[in-house]
Amino acid sequence: MRGAVIHAPGDVRFETVDDAKILKPTDAVIRTAVTCVCGSDLWPYRGAEPTEQAHPMGHEYVGFVEEVGSEVTSVKPGQFVVGSFATSDNTCANCRNGFQSNCLNREFMSTCQAEYVRIPHAQGTLVATDETPDEELWPGLLAVSDVMGTGWWAADAAEVKPGSTAVVVGDGAVGLCAVIAAKEMGAERIIAMSRHASRQKLALEFGATDIVTERGDEGIARIKDLTGGIGADSVLECVGTAQAMSQALHSARPGGNVGFVGVPHEVAIDGQELFFSHVGLRGGPAPVRRYLPDLIDRVLTRRIDPGKVFDLTLPLEQVAEGYRAMDERRAIKTLLKP
Ligand SMILES: [Zn+2]
Ligand SMILES: [Zn+2]
Repeated sequence: MRGAVIHAPGDVRFETVDDAKILKPTDAVIRTAVTCVCGSDLWPYRGAEPTEQAHPMGHEYVGFVEEVGSEVTSVKPGQFVVGSFATSDNTCANCRNGFQSNCLNREFMSTCQAEYVRIPHAQGTLVATDETPDEELWPGLLAVSDVMGTGWWAADAAEVKPGSTAVVVGDGAVGLCAVIAAKEMGAERIIAMSRHASRQKLALEFGATDIVTERGDEGIARIKDLTGGIGADSVLECVGTAQAMSQALHSARPGGNVGFVGVPHEVAIDGQELFFSHVGLRGGPAPVRRYLPDLIDRVLTRRIDPGKVFDLTLPLEQVAEGYRAMDERRAIKTLLKP
């Protein structure tokens, strides 16, 4: 089979890789329906994370079950399935507490930009749809496997409530999905921080009520202006840089909450500042598995359409161009079709 392999920063190739096969009785193998490039794939692509040896890429997937191991009874060959970027047995204490992305048997998916994918802990990880969904819904379901689930977690962690004010820091695919989540959870005012016209447009379409283009101190001042001088009830941090985190912390009101879901890169938080801010802070890799049944339902009933974050579709074999387009900000997110 063929799949994407990163050899060095800027060097992603579509080439022959080891066939996906059942290695453990808890595994399944799926045939990829659609997959995609994630914003976090750009960290190694840009050299911000080292690539010591060539390795496969990709952690977002939906597909058709090809084969299951002897211990997998919850899904069967032919079914359309959605999973998460983090595998989970869905039975351990952390899973039962709703933190499947911290499963005691967790593995992070890393081989999904390929024609077939091995899914560890398939029993707990995969959710099958009742029937094969219309192909036009596949992008939305693919978004659920990471960016929509992560946006949902940002809103959940920031405790968005009906009638509240939410600020979304970051206008990548996760930030845009976080706007959808804030809207679904009933936020009355949703302020999206974005400087890119195409992303502002999508944010407004997804339910943002205000756009703030300023960053840093000016951005914080604008948020204060819009929130009676005190800051927002909930801030959804969807970037992971020091600047974005600082902006998020200073945009929340005393007693407000920040949900941070951008993987932190060189983020440091001052203890004194946090102490006196009265701001609650929760983040981490999204427990997507907890949200899968609900989010799959919202997509299948066409209540939400997170598939709109994909503004470039390419054949899987052109995966390298998919990375380039996102790196050069020509695309928000690239959908790949085998
Ligand atoms: Zn991702
Ligand atoms: Zn578990």
